[in-house]
Amino acid sequence: MPRPILATIHSAALRHNLGQARRRAPDARVWAVVKANAYGHGIERCFEALRGADGFALLDLAEAERLRALDWRGPILLLEGVFEPRDLETCSRLNLWHAVHCDEQIDWLAAHKTQQPHRVFLKLNSGMNRLGFRPAALRAAWSRLNALPQVDEISFMTHFSDADGTRGIGHQVAAFEAATADLAGERTLCNSAAILRHVDHPLRGVGVSTLAADWVREGIALYGGAPDYPEHTAGDWGLRPTMTLSSRLIGVQQLQPGDTVGYGSTFTAERPMRVGVVACGYADGYPRHAATGTPILVAGVRTRTIGRVSMDMLAVDLSPLDEAGVPAGIGSEVVLWGVSPSTGTALSIDEVACAAGTIGYELMCAVASRVPYLLE
Ligand SMILES: *Cc1c(COP(=O)(O)O)cnc(C)c1O
Repeated sequence: MPRPILATIHSAALRHNLGQARRRAPDARVWAVVKANAYGHGIERCFEALRGADGFALLDLAEAERLRALDWRGPILLLEGVFEPRDLETCSRLNLWHAVHCDEQIDWLAAHKTQQPHRVFLKLNSGMNRLGFRPAALRAAWSRLNALPQVDEISFMTHFSDADGTRGIGHQVAAFEAATADLAGERTLCNSAAILRHVDHPLRGVGVSTLAADWVREGIALYGGAPDYPEHTAGDWGLRPTMTLSSRLIGVQQLQPGDTVGYGSTFTAERPMRVGVVACGYADGYPRHAATGTPILVAGVRTRTIGRVSMDMLAVDLSPLDEAGVPAGIGSEVVLWGVSPSTGTALSIDEVACAAGTIGYELMCAVASRVPYLLE
């Protein structure tokens, strides 16, 4: 028998979450962001559930190739544009739309030979200071692109640094409005946090009245993560978990007071207790930084991890089950995050991530290649 660890992808939840984006931004088209292999879910696995999106956004050309191999004929946007001149040949061949965020990318386009002019998304650095033209440089970049026979339609994009937090989006929206005022073209601003929190914020641009604009770019919310946890949970936003990481108990130890658990003996029993050993460790993508107390479900009952996470195993406290008279032993179902198949109890990936000092995004993306997947 293979190791009992399994990542289950819930396609009905993916469909539901996409529907939530449509409901929040009914007048915008929706990019399903499927970078990082659909946030660790697998592009091919998610494709059927997400094909109702208006387009797919990602940044790896090989992933774009995989979408075309699935016979997706609709829009694909490269969020970081091309990395070197010959990538433009791939864009021409596969009809990929691409961000343009620096002068070098315009130079490469100017030298590119193509029958088919490209659709580009000119990226404004409105304050994130990662990719994009500064506001003062945007018009010159637009003029250069507009003069190129290799380019047909020019759209505008920017990305928020604080759509999930207290600083908010006001300063970046103002920069975007000023920099793109009276330049014709479609616009896209919102990531998940902005879709959930700010989508009705006014936008004084060309032909669009709210931040939803022409396109929204939804990533984490499609995968049932709350971008602003713990202020809001995924449930608060009407989102459903799309991934369950489950395994089983492969060992049980009866501890006496003073006994310790795992490497470094970081957990010491204060009273007699049973400990379950789970077939899941950091080599499966479970965060090693998850300290004693990280929530976990055993037989659908919420309990906690104890001691250090090791490469292939971690330990759980079985006391809550024993106290409630829930039988637990070798073979008992364990849910690291997601939904218990046996009881339907949910454990949010955001809560687990928070206990490990990270975010749900990272846990999804980190599920290791040795973990088998099941699509349901
Ligand atoms: C990843 C990404 C998104 C999606 O972000 P979420 O927070 O997952 O919704 C949107 N736009 C750009 C440019 C991105 O890189």
